[in-house]
Amino acid sequence: MAITLDIARDNPNAPTVPAAASLLPGEEKPGLIGLNREELGEALGTIGVPQKQWRMRASQLWHWLYVRGVSDFAQMTNIAKDLRQKLDENFSIARPEIVSEQISVDGTRKWLFRFLPRGAGRPVEVETVYIPEEGRGTLCVSSQVGCTLTCTFCHTGTQKMVRNLTAEEILAQVLLARDRVGDFPDAHTPQGAIVPSEGRLVTNVVMMGMGEPLYNFENVKKALLIASDGDGLSLSKRRITLSTSGVVPEIFRTGDEIGCMLAISLHAVRDELRDVLVPINKKWNIAALLDACRNYPGLSNAKRITFEYVMLKGINDSNKDALDLVRLLKGIPAKINLIPFNPWPGSEYECSDWERIEEFSDIVNRAGYASPIRTPRGRDIFAACGQLKSASERMRKKDRDALTAG
Ligand code: SF4
Repeated sequence: MAITLDIARDNPNAPTVPAAASLLPGEEKPGLIGLNREELGEALGTIGVPQKQWRMRASQLWHWLYVRGVSDFAQMTNIAKDLRQKLDENFSIARPEIVSEQISVDGTRKWLFRFLPRGAGRPVEVETVYIPEEGRGTLCVSSQVGCTLTCTFCHTGTQKMVRNLTAEEILAQVLLARDRVGDFPDAHTPQGAIVPSEGRLVTNVVMMGMGEPLYNFENVKKALLIASDGDGLSLSKRRITLSTSGVVPEIFRTGDEIGCMLAISLHAVRDELRDVLVPINKKWNIAALLDACRNYPGLSNAKRITFEYVMLKGINDSNKDALDLVRLLKGIPAKINLIPFNPWPGSEYECSDWERIEEFSDIVNRAGYASPIRTPRGRDIFAACGQLKSASERMRKKDRDALTAG
């Protein structure tokens, strides 16, 4: 059963989980999070910092923002007070609002974050999930609010696409998660929290939350380059994985310009079935997708592509499917992740039986592929793979259902 700390929509009087700082409604100050070093320098120029200081000042800010994780200019003690004040008057480094934080019995945490409206838009909400394991803490980050794609096994796919997240909003998910689990020097790990026993608490980032990251390429690229910068958040590119449903034209660029690990939501070995499960397949079919994978920059046995395969009872889980999967991936340095299907209200599929999953896995293993069966995490709080959907969207659906029933 989930421990719900604060679900504002269920309980309007519930206290909001304290963030280090929060934006005032309607506040329009431009954000500094998500700017690269050059852009930071230029931003400083707009408040009168002489150009010859831009590099040094940008490095100072970078350290405070990404190494120390501060969200208030007042904490930047090696920057003169009058400059701190000017920065505060003109820019924001505040965290977005935490609408809710849910903690699963297995220690998985799911947050609902609310971001300010952009332009004439409304505030938007996205979910981010933290999965602690022995020796690693994986953060599943969203790239869009909703999704334009309609993968039929995925709950997010039923949510209307609202907009792309900015680089700032993508990074904010990482910063806030690190605040909440105590992964910055001055942050505290909540008592009783399940986290890796030593080392960093957020060790891996997977772009597998809401949305198709390659439909928001520039913002995702910018955010991931900042996240992997060695003088800042310093996440190794080998510990950042971008998962795509198969946006073939952007796959080469992902390896070439971002250099992170790649995961493919494959889920079927025949085009007729993949057309249904992952409809983008009608645009770029399995053959085109695998061609792009073969050409992924840096691909080697040490840098394998992960193929995600959700196990759907009676749909894609036969021994023949397993053999065809092995045949299809021949020659591609690959790992296969078997994902027991995580049901959600209204979903039309069932999870394959455990014996079936094991037999499938055995066939794939015998062919030489490591094929871990991904243990479902955070199911009790709808945080598992394919279950993300913002709480407000769930509420809207409930309201719609109530109206229809009435
Ligand atoms: S699996 Fe990914 S791409 Fe497909 S609908 Fe869900 S969020 Fe969108």
